[in-house]
Amino acid sequence: MPAEEATPAIVLRTRDYLESDRIVTLLTEQAGKLGGIAKGAKASRRRFEHRLEPFSHVMLYFRRRPHGQLVFITRAEAAGLPPFRLEDDLGRLALGAYMLELAEALTSEDAEASGAYHLLAEALAALGAGDATTALRQAYELRLFRWAGFGMQFDRCRMCAETQAGPAAVYFIIGRGGIVCARCRERAPEGGIGRGAARAAALGELGGRPWADAAAATAAGADGALAIARFIASVVDRKLRSVEFLDSVIAPATRA
Ligand SMILES: [Zn+2]
Repeated sequence: MPAEEATPAIVLRTRDYLESDRIVTLLTEQAGKLGGIAKGAKASRRRFEHRLEPFSHVMLYFRRRPHGQLVFITRAEAAGLPPFRLEDDLGRLALGAYMLELAEALTSEDAEASGAYHLLAEALAALGAGDATTALRQAYELRLFRWAGFGMQFDRCRMCAETQAGPAAVYFIIGRGGIVCARCRERAPEGGIGRGAARAAALGELGGRPWADAAAATAAGADGALAIARFIASVVDRKLRSVEFLDSVIAPATRA
């Protein structure tokens, strides 16, 4: 029998299986994204203590199986890991659900994802401690993109590398991974989203702020939100189910 492994993990998604089992998708610190089956999860409070729900932060114990995708989850414990407190607040639950779904979309099984686990844990902790704001959403999106290798540049032109500042117009072009200045714009025929350079740079800065300040920061406004949404659509090959609800709860344009 394969050895039992243990790792901190955040539950992304669950579904019931047969009478008493549960299939769980988790983002773990040590073992990347994992799908597992928890036999008897609905009955055994001793082994699972109701801890396998979305947002659960647990020490996960599991064994790999020689065949098949799902690992065998043996138990899950709180083990002193901080819980994420999103209850009773629609905005927090909506943004939290989106954070889980985006993390799932940008990670793959059998690939290291320790950085993504830590980003998600920090973002959910910040969300539990403060308000669900568009700025916090964007801070998380920008960090997770950077972790996934899609670092975007907002303060210098992707073509001539000149630093952009002030009220000058720049154009956010997804295929070039950032902004293009007005002078280079003619040589970049792709569709772009125009905005002031200072606001573009502020968007970049949002991705580097401490979590404690992110929720209260100024969000990147409707054009920044549109640029990010288009970027997500270009790298994630499915529609994120939580987005529509999130946009109806905290509208990106209202906190510009
Ligand atoms: Zn340029």
